[in-house]
Amino acid sequence: MNDSTKTTSPTEPAMARRVTMAAGTVIFRKGDQRDAAYIIDRGKVQIREDDPESDRVLVELEAGDIFGEMALIDDKARTATAVAAEDTDVYVLSRELLTGRMESLDPLIALMINILIERYRRTRVDLPETAGTARSGDVEKTLRASKKTGKKAPASVATVVERQHVALQELRLEQELRGAVERKEFEPYFQPIIDLRAGRVAGFESLIRWNHPERGMVMPGDFVPVAERTNVVQLLDGLILEKACAAVPLLNEAAGNPKKPLFTSVNLSAINFMTPNIVEQVGEVVRASGVEPRQIRLEITESAFIDDPERAEHILSGFKGLGLGIALDDFGTGYSSLSYLHKLSIDSLKIDRSFITQIHDEDKVYDIVRAIVNLAHDFLLYVVAEGIEYAEDVTALRHVNCDMGQGYFFGKPLSLENAIQYVKDNYEAGI
Ligand code: C2E
Ligand code: CA
Ligand code: CA
Repeated sequence: MNDSTKTTSPTEPAMARRVTMAAGTVIFRKGDQRDAAYIIDRGKVQIREDDPESDRVLVELEAGDIFGEMALIDDKARTATAVAAEDTDVYVLSRELLTGRMESLDPLIALMINILIERYRRTRVDLPETAGTARSGDVEKTLRASKKTGKKAPASVATVVERQHVALQELRLEQELRGAVERKEFEPYFQPIIDLRAGRVAGFESLIRWNHPERGMVMPGDFVPVAERTNVVQLLDGLILEKACAAVPLLNEAAGNPKKPLFTSVNLSAINFMTPNIVEQVGEVVRASGVEPRQIRLEITESAFIDDPERAEHILSGFKGLGLGIALDDFGTGYSSLSYLHKLSIDSLKIDRSFITQIHDEDKVYDIVRAIVNLAHDFLLYVVAEGIEYAEDVTALRHVNCDMGQGYFFGKPLSLENAIQYVKDNYEAGI
């Protein structure tokens, strides 16, 4: 195979590579050391015996099939040869990538997989390069047969097809995302955050948008989860932070450079939060932009603190030391332990939209929000309510003394140009 393997630096996570091969290309040879598994995106691959006496085709695989997966078990020699039977595209999944992904799994699932692999390693006899358990051809045949006979296909068969489909979709999306980062197809939109007491724009939250050349504007819900699973989110958050910093002076200028400057908040994925040197990385971007650190706020969800609260607090205090604002995002949806609030170096809470949508007609929710606001104030944190859609929500939130609000009622996320216009139209007039 024409190997264009890129060595990955410690900061650059291992990624799946998509490789195009002409018919007849040898992907690996019997005797080669096992180091990667492969998933076929397009075309056909034959696994051949490759003995002096016989070059029998052991199995022919097609799009969606996985082969060479024994590389996950050990780095022994390949027991067969894999050849592209026609022009073929495969994703190369290095062992490094697979083990890296496994580390980011739910710890219980990772433990179970490790136990199964360990057991397999100890008990197996040498298997050919594909155990054939995940062949889409086979499972589809079973599905077709089950349709004919009217019998239900076993759940596991349907699940394999579904999983293969999802895995391929994710691999394709990951490649697409990396290309899109290079082509700079991402930009932040800015949603106004209003000081509820003063009735003035206090700042903006930057929310990522993908300007896809064919699909138009793609919302974060459609790509951020995959970006998080594949570590691409590091690149995205870095890009948005840079662009948000660049927007800060423009938004302030539109407000007539007020004494209390407008801030811009930036989402920091829990995945990024724990990367080594995150404080230095963020600090460097902010410094290079020349923006005052207090004009930038990082929004972090509670999930970032769960695994290692001590380390999390260390990172938070690093951000605080730089002078950045820090908000606990989506408050109320996660583990929401009110008891640790005072231990964290944060300065604000964002109450999740799911509460705000019920605040004006559910007494209980109103009471909960009031309690959260009071407690936050006791800890000297200010509170932002998310997802305000109605005037009644604003009234209720003013009643409970909530500091700031954000939602479609005040304004949807806007392009930078429109956000600047929004400030010009609303800053002096008030809201
Ligand atoms: P989030 O941080 O909780 O952002 C608020 C989401 O609620 C945004 O969705 C916003 O458009 C939406 N929203 C605001 N006001 C209202 C309202 O009144 N009604 C309704 N129905 N929705 C409202 P969006 O932009 O689709 O973002 C979704 C999520 O994607 C964000 O949730 C955040 O978790 C993530 N995200 C967005 N941008 C970034 C980014 O740059 N980096 C990272 N890591 N995640 C991001
Ligand atoms: Ca947010
Ligand atoms: Ca939120």
